[in-house]
Amino acid sequence: MDLPYTEPYKIKAVEPIHHSNREQRERWIREARYNLFNLPSDHVFIDLLTDSGTGAMSQDQWAAIMTGDESYAGSRSFYELKETITSITGFEFVLPAHQGRAAENVLFSTLIKEGDVVPGNAHFDTTKGHIEFRKAMALDCTIDIASDTVAYHPFKGNLDIDKLEKAVKKYGKQRIPMIIATITCNSTGGQPVSMENLRQVKNFADRHGIPLFYDAARFAENAYFIKTREKEYAELPVIEIIREMFSLADGMTMSSKKDGLVNIGGFLAMNDEKLYKEASRFSIMFEGFLSYGGMAGRDMAALAAGLKEAVTLDFLESRVRQVHYLGNLLKKFNIPLQEPFGGHAIFVNARKMLSGVPQEEYIAQTLAIELYLESGVRAVEIGTLLADRHPQTREERYPALEMVRLAIPRRVYTNNHMDYIAAALQNIYQRRETIRSGYRIVSEAPIMRHFTVELEPA
Ligand SMILES: *Cc1c(COP(=O)(O)O)cnc(C)c1O
Repeated sequence: MDLPYTEPYKIKAVEPIHHSNREQRERWIREARYNLFNLPSDHVFIDLLTDSGTGAMSQDQWAAIMTGDESYAGSRSFYELKETITSITGFEFVLPAHQGRAAENVLFSTLIKEGDVVPGNAHFDTTKGHIEFRKAMALDCTIDIASDTVAYHPFKGNLDIDKLEKAVKKYGKQRIPMIIATITCNSTGGQPVSMENLRQVKNFADRHGIPLFYDAARFAENAYFIKTREKEYAELPVIEIIREMFSLADGMTMSSKKDGLVNIGGFLAMNDEKLYKEASRFSIMFEGFLSYGGMAGRDMAALAAGLKEAVTLDFLESRVRQVHYLGNLLKKFNIPLQEPFGGHAIFVNARKMLSGVPQEEYIAQTLAIELYLESGVRAVEIGTLLADRHPQTREERYPALEMVRLAIPRRVYTNNHMDYIAAALQNIYQRRETIRSGYRIVSEAPIMRHFTVELEPA
C-alpha cells in the first residue's frame, strides 16, 4: 500500500495545552461577554483565531536568535536579511518594519495622497485602512466568481482586467498611484492569484505607466498553488516560481508574521532607488533607522532563516496539506464550506449550517461560540459583527456571507488536533436544528467593534 503523507519535521520543544470542561467554558465565555477576543489564551484549548505571528520557529531560527547582531547601524543581521530577501524576490532595496501594516504606512506615506484611487483584489483590512486614512479609495477589482463560495475556480484571488480598465477610464491614471495585488488574497479566503493573471496585470500596469505592488504576506503559499494548479509550472522548483512572480512587480510590502515564519516583523522591498530614498524618510520617522526599522537584530536573523524555509516545497506541502486535511474531514461530514480551500484557513458557512438563527442575532458569532463551548477551540467570526455598522446611518451592514474562519497556525498543531476540531464541528452539525437563537449586543465601539463588543444570549 502507498505510505501516507507525513510532516517533514519532528518536534523538539513542547508547549502544554489544557483541556477544560463544558461547565468551565460556559463560565469563561460568559465572563468574556461572549466575545472570543476577550478570552485569556489559557482558557483556549486549540487556538485558530489567526495564523498571524502564531507559528512555531525551527531550530535554525532559534539558533539565529542567538547570533543576532544588535548594532544600531549596519547590523550584520540586517545584511543577512537583505541578502535573503534580494535572493528570493530580486528586489534590491529593503526597509525592515515592525509588521506588515507598518510597511504599508511607509510605502503609502510616500505614494498615496488625498483623492487617489488604489485598485486591487479585496485589499486586506489594514491596507484598506491605511488607504482610507489618507482620504484615498481602495477599489476592489477581484473577479466576480470569488464571492461565490461553492463555484470552482483555481485562482479566486485573480484581478479582473476589465475592472482595472474601467477604473483607469473613470478616474484617470494620474489618480492611480499603484495597483496592489494581494498574494494570496486573504480577504477572499486565502485564495491564490495565477501567474497568468499577474502577467496580465503587469502588462496592464505597464501600458498605463502605473506601478504594481504586491501585498505579499503569503507569497510562498501563492507560489505553491501556482505549482499545483497552473499546468506550465508543475515541474518548476518553487523558488523559480517565486522569482518569476516577483519579477512582474515593482515592489512589495510584507507581514513576516505569515510566510516569514516569525512571530513579529515585516518589510518593504523595491527596485527603484529614488522611491527607496523617499520611503527611507518615513521609515526613519515611523519605524527606526534603515538597518533595523522596528526589529531587533535577532528577529531579523530569525526572519532571514524563516524566509529560506518558507520557500521550500517540504514546508509548503506540509502547510497547505494540513489545512486541506481539515477541510476534507469537514467536507466528509457535510459541513458547508468555502471551496476550493485556500492556503491558511478553512471557512465554515455559518448561515447554511445554523439556518434557524435569525440574521439579527449574529449567526457566525453564534457558531464560533458553540464551537468554543463544545470543544475549547477558538475560531473567529467573519460576519455581521466584523462588517460593522454603516458609518453614517449606523444601520447594521449584513454581509453576503456569515463565515467562521478556522485559521491554522504554521507547524503548531498535529493532524490529531485537526481530527478533534472536525469532530467538534460534526457534533454541532448533528444538533444544528436545536440551535435557534443567537446573541444581542450589550455594548459596542463606534468602529472595529468586533474586537471589544459585549454580547448576551438573545
Ligand atoms: C496580516 C496581513 C497584513 C498586515 O500585517 P500585520 O503584520 O498584521 O500588520 C497585510 N496584508 C495581508 C494580506 C495580511 O495577511
